[in-house]
Amino acid sequence: MKAAVAHEFKAPLCVETVAQPNVKPGTVLVKIAACGVCHTDLHACHGDWPVKPKMPLIPGHEGVGTIVSKADNVVHLSIGDKVGIPWLHSACGHCEHCLQGDENLCPSQQNSGYSVDGGYAEYCLADANYVVKIPDNLGFVETAPLFCAGVTTYKALKVSEAKPGQWVSIVGVGGLGHLAIQYAKAMGLNVIAVDSGDSKLALAKELGADHCIDYQTLDPAQHIQSQFGGVQAVICTATSKAAFDSAYQSVKRGGKCVLVGLPNDALPIPIFDTVLKGISVIGSIVGTRQDLIECLEFAAAGKVRAIVTTQPLANINQVFAQMQDNDIQGRIVLTMD
Ligand code: NAD
Ligand code: ZN
Ligand code: ZN
Repeated sequence: MKAAVAHEFKAPLCVETVAQPNVKPGTVLVKIAACGVCHTDLHACHGDWPVKPKMPLIPGHEGVGTIVSKADNVVHLSIGDKVGIPWLHSACGHCEHCLQGDENLCPSQQNSGYSVDGGYAEYCLADANYVVKIPDNLGFVETAPLFCAGVTTYKALKVSEAKPGQWVSIVGVGGLGHLAIQYAKAMGLNVIAVDSGDSKLALAKELGADHCIDYQTLDPAQHIQSQFGGVQAVICTATSKAAFDSAYQSVKRGGKCVLVGLPNDALPIPIFDTVLKGISVIGSIVGTRQDLIECLEFAAAGKVRAIVTTQPLANINQVFAQMQDNDIQGRIVLTMD
């Protein structure tokens, strides 16, 4: 089968022919139709994080397609089912986190396109218990980004506990942020979007943001504090440390700063302000299968729609270059045909 393979950190991916994986007990083989390109894939291929991915690696954790074969012991899925393979490739199912319904925190989890091969390929092997079915009225290309960008931002908004009528700010209007704006609006929240450039801010407005800030021309924290008295919650999906400093400073007393983006940096948090203002700083990592099912239902009901551009798998290195330059509107989705 054809796949895009990372052989070493920071080197271009090679689009090459590799062996098609064989079904093992508990797994299904998915013929991939489309796979979104998440900034995490770029971090993986650059070896940006303290925990390194397997090498060689087939990245991709927004792969969607059709089940073409399955192990005999898989009885809840059928050949022909449309499914997606999320970042949470598998979890142990019996640790305290799994038992409490926080499988996204399982210490024994495997991650698609990181610790196991992912969706930048014509076929991908998945754990049958962790694939999630795609609602009938949704197409592959528009649904792929929901399997990471969608569920991650939907979950982060839940974690923020912001209530209808309250203000939240979405920092970074990229693959994650453009969906965060839509989930926030669908939840009845007032939204401030922060990014840079006319096209990203115009997109934010089009997707329902009530107020947009270009961080290159206006200090977001200062503006948000002076004009809005701070936000109840900020969802920081940006890829730069500066965005996190500013996100922290834009929260009001009692508010929550939800960290989602993953630049490999420290965030020095002022103890005095955090204590006296009762501010919470919370990490949020993807979501559970149930979060994913809910996040797909929003899309099936027409309340959320990923803005996508397609590119053939062969163009992956060009897509990565564009991502590095913050030059993508919404999400780019790779197609395998
Ligand atoms: P992306 O490249 O599509 O979007 C990032 C956006 O951040 C861009 O629009 C860019 O212009 C903007 N940005 C950069 N600096 C900024 C600043 N100072 N202020 C405001 N905006 C700024 O990336 P993505 O796919 O949306 O992923 C974003 C980050 O989230 C990555 O670090 C990724 O690894 C991480 N991520 C985390 C989770 C999780 O579960 N926590 C899940 C998926 C992705
Ligand atoms: Zn577990
Ligand atoms: Zn992702």
